Amino acid sequence: MRILIVEDEPRTASSLHQGLQDAGYQPEMVQRGDDAVEIISTQSWDAVIMDIMLPGCDGLTAVRRLRERSNSTPILLLSALGEVDQRIEGLNAGADDYLPKPFSLGEVLARLNALTRRGGDTKAILLRVADLALDVPHRTASRGGRLIELSSREFRLLEVLMRQAGNVCPRSLLLREVWDYNFDPGTNLVDVYIRKLREKIDNSDDCLPLLHTIRGVGYMMSEQPPA
Ligand code: CA
Repeated sequence: MRILIVEDEPRTASSLHQGLQDAGYQPEMVQRGDDAVEIISTQSWDAVIMDIMLPGCDGLTAVRRLRERSNSTPILLLSALGEVDQRIEGLNAGADDYLPKPFSLGEVLARLNALTRRGGDTKAILLRVADLALDVPHRTASRGGRLIELSSREFRLLEVLMRQAGNVCPRSLLLREVWDYNFDPGTNLVDVYIRKLREKIDNSDDCLPLLHTIRGVGYMMSEQPPA
């Protein structure tokens, strides 16, 4: 598992590097945000741990640039500013998770484990429903040949739905497969993400809707409208 650490503070960077290495990962380090964007765009990483305050460009900008390039490598943001605003801003920029400083190595490993496990089942590598295609190893999605920008959580949600195409996916299954929740958090998390996904894949009036709501149960990906 290749992990990129993007952090300019030498002590934090080297203790993360050591901890990840001890845990069996292959970590590499870079200090600048703009360098990180290039390295993440041109090489394959299982996950990225990125600080927000960085030289070159800050972590939020780096995440935005990557998502604009349709790169959905899982990203865990770190920040000394443990404020709710920053957390929401980070997730809106397209980060997958957020950890306020100071953090323990155990917390980092737990979050990384959750992020990297998601991309793990690559039974089929190219999934298709009508003209919607998902290339799992390259982490790209397209509809009618047009690339669709997805955060890695949206990508994972679409992957689960497409692997089950033609079958109803209950909310509980989506919560478990996409968020690692084995319980109902009592929020409309799934519905919020489905809405974002639907805007991206079923977004024009003349395209066939593929993502269907099965009222009271969950969602289904299908070329045919549900009976
Ligand atoms: Ca920093």
